[in-house]
Order: sequence, then structure tokens, then C-alpha cells
Amino acid sequence: ELKKLKRISEYEWEISPVGDMKVPGKIFASQKLVEEMDEKVYEQVCNVASLPGIVKASIAMPDAHWGYGFPIGGVAAFDPEEGGIISVGGVGYDISCGVRTLLTPLEKNEVIPHLETLVKMLFETVPSGVGSEGTIKLSPSQLDEVLVEGAKWAVKKGYGIPEDLEYIEEKGCMPGADPSFVSMEAKKRQHRQIGTLGSGNHYLEIQYVSEIYNQEVAEVFGLFKNQVVVTFHCGSRALGHQIATDYLPVLAKAARKYGIPIKEKELVCAPIDSPEGESYFKAMVCGINCALANRQVITHLVREVFQEIFPGIFLKVLYDVSHNTCKVEHHLINGKLKKLYVHRKGATRAWGPGRKELPKEYQKVGQPVIIGGSMGTASYILVGTEEGEEKAFGSACHGAGRTMSRNQAIKTFRADQIIENLRKKGIIVMAKSKKGLCEEAPEAYKDVNEVIEATCKAGLTKKVAKLIPIGCIKG
Ligand code: 5GP
Ligand code: MN
Ligand code: MN
Repeated sequence: ELKKLKRISEYEWEISPVGDMKVPGKIFASQKLVEEMDEKVYEQVCNVASLPGIVKASIAMPDAHWGYGFPIGGVAAFDPEEGGIISVGGVGYDISCGVRTLLTPLEKNEVIPHLETLVKMLFETVPSGVGSEGTIKLSPSQLDEVLVEGAKWAVKKGYGIPEDLEYIEEKGCMPGADPSFVSMEAKKRQHRQIGTLGSGNHYLEIQYVSEIYNQEVAEVFGLFKNQVVVTFHCGSRALGHQIATDYLPVLAKAARKYGIPIKEKELVCAPIDSPEGESYFKAMVCGINCALANRQVITHLVREVFQEIFPGIFLKVLYDVSHNTCKVEHHLINGKLKKLYVHRKGATRAWGPGRKELPKEYQKVGQPVIIGGSMGTASYILVGTEEGEEKAFGSACHGAGRTMSRNQAIKTFRADQIIENLRKKGIIVMAKSKKGLCEEAPEAYKDVNEVIEATCKAGLTKKVAKLIPIGCIKG
């Protein structure tokens, strides 16, 4: 398999265009990660490279693995002036699934005595599990406000403070949403799901900073050694999933209408400028805003729990990143600034210094990039680079990436054993579903350290801090 790949540098591999590929494929990874990558990744990278209007390259991140249509860990940008497309498979089912980190002013040794209580209270306060429901009930028309305003809606309703919005991509509200393009079914399913974590891979974790790699950037981000932080991972819940499901047939029909070959069910797409492409985009932005509102409400719930145990404490938002999106961004292509539709599916935006969209104080260092590992291993805070903007439209990995299928993991691991093993390591885990816990066993994931090394050595990001879990809540 390696034969098909041309090694460009130690952490960069290329697939020369063959057949109807319009651009090369590009994989950022170490030799070991490339060797372990499932073959489907190559195939999917090539499929994406053959889509109309793709710019520069079809890219896979070091944590890439098979996904629906695009690989998870896939990045591709399309030029609307060149017939560029937008694809459901380039965003994924959990639209705007993402991660937010909250900073506490506490050190690990202040939190450990309260850890058991904290985990239990967070588990009781932040609803989790399949189809989990919260206390906020929204009729379809009330939900429309959420879909247009995102986290701004949540702040308006008292969940958080206006300053929080500064520290969310898109400032908490992505423009271009139109709820009339979201089905009633999607809105009904979301009725009570705002402020809930969901299941499986979604988590809420208490972590501490075990290592600082870059003191200057860490200071700008407000990170210090032994500091306790809270990181959680969730997305747009039922609404996003239903939007993806609703638009698959719409874009399948559109692909046939516009003569775009469909290589996989989820790779269906439509030209950005077509009515079908525009409709999906407007609905997808609603999904993004739903996820941003969701994480904002959860932020509020986490703060309440911490304030109960540590009166007077405030948890500041470090940043909120989404790793399942299509965004309108400007990038330099052959010396010309181009408006592109950048799909990142299981990939995190990782802008370098200077981008005016970033919070003021982050502009001089670049964007915080929040990467999960597993409930038993490290997670990381990275920072974006200019080199990454050139090489990968400012993108990075989004996690360790699976190495074992969910089914395989269920057959291999036992929930009680996982909980016991983690407790021995000083990590308290509470989960709604035993099956879900097995699916997420730390051993079901690649080595996060290896993935981070590759991402950084490829120049896409720089390491800032390492986080070690002490408490984890799973759906
Ligand atoms: P996704 O499900 O969005 O594709 O995966 C996000 C990433 O989160 C995975 O690649 C994995 O590395 C990481 N992850 C999954 N479960 C946990 C967890 O419980 N804690 C942490 N810190 N990371 C996790
Ligand atoms: Mn998700
Ligand atoms: Mn995710």
C-alpha cells in the first residue's frame, strides 16, 4: 500500500492524481500511523479528490480512519467559482460536534478531595446518554431562535456571560442559518435536547495540566501547571443527525441532476451555488448554531456545579472548537485570496497568528486547538500555525482516532474492568451505558501522543499543554 504513497517529508505523504482525481491526495502522518491506517482512508481521500471544484489537495489528518463518504480526519476546500460542491459526507452526521475547555483557577490538589462528589454532581447535572433530555423545553418556533443565534441565544437566556461568546469559533453564532430549511422532524426530535451531552464518544472530563510545552502561549491561553480544567465533547444532538439524514436524498438527487458521479452513499453533494447546495448550507449552519448553544448551556451547568463546591469560583472559557463543519473562509491560493468552502470532518480548525476572527489576545499566538485522547490517556491543547494554513487550510487532527471498531471493542472489553482499571490510575469514570463505555475503552483508540507528534512535526500545530484526566463522564 505504501507504494501508492509518495513520501514528501517525514510526516507528509502524497497520492498523485490518477483517474478522475482533480488534485493530489495528501496524508499527514508518521510512517507508523500510515502503515496502521485502514486502506479505506486512501480510497476515500481519492474519492474526495475527484469532486468538482476541489482546491489544492484532498487531505487526511494523522488520526484519520474510515468514515461515511469523507474519511474521519478529512479536510477539503472547494471554490464556488470553479463549480465547487458542498457535501453531507464532508461534514458528518453530528454537525459541529466539538470540544470546549473551561479553565478553573484551582490546582489539582485542591480538587482531588472533592473529586468523587464533583464527578457525581456533574453526572447528575449534565444529562447524558442516548436520547438524553434536559430541563429546557423548546417548541419548533422557539428552537428557530436557537438555530439562528447559537450560543448568543443561550447567553441571552442567562446561560453564561456575553464575554463567553468571544471564546467560541464564529463568536458563538455562525451567520447564514435559515431554520425554514430544517425539517419539522428535526426540530421535534430536538425538543428537549439542548444542554445535553449525548452518548458514546461524547464526554465531560475533569483534567489537570500535567505539562506545559510552550510557556509563552500557555500564559496567553491562561494555562498553568497542575491547573484543573474541564473539557467536554458533544455536538448538535438529534437535530444535526436529522439534518444530515434529510439532506442525503436531496443531495443525491442533485448530484445526478448536475452530473456529479456518486462514489459512496454519503459522498453525495451539490454545487455550492445550486439551490440544493444552498439549502443544505443554510440547514447545516442551523446545526452548527444548535451545537454552539448546546455547549453554552452545558458550560453554565458545569459552572453551577463547581460554584456549589467551590463558592465564588468562575470557570473561564478557553475556547470552543468544532470538528464537523463546512465553513466559508478566505485562503491564499497561488497568491490570490479566495473565498472557499472548507469541509473539516473529524478535523479541527487550527489557525495561526494574525487571524482577525480570533479573540484579541490569541491573535498574536494563534488559535487554541483542543484534542481529546481517551478517558484513560492524555489529551492536548495545541496552537495553530501559519505553516498549517498553507499546508492544510489551517487544520489539525481532532483526537487520537479509533483503531478498533465499536463492535470489536464491545466484544473485547468489559465495562466493570475498564472502570476498575481507570480507578487504579486515579480516574473516576461514570457512564450511562456499559456498552458505550466498552466502545470507548482507551485501547480502542490510537496512541494520542503519536498522533500529536505527527500533527506538530508536520507543522500543522505546536504543542502547548498536556492534560491528564481525573474524572470522566460518558453517555
Ligand atoms: P469523535 O467521536 O468526535 O470522532 O472523536 C473525538 C476524539 O475524542 C476521539 O478520536 C478520541 O481520541 C477522543 N475521545 C473519545 N472518548 C474520550 C474521552 O472519554 N476522553 C477524552 N479525553 N477523549 C476522548
Ligand atoms: Mn459527535
Ligand atoms: Mn466529535
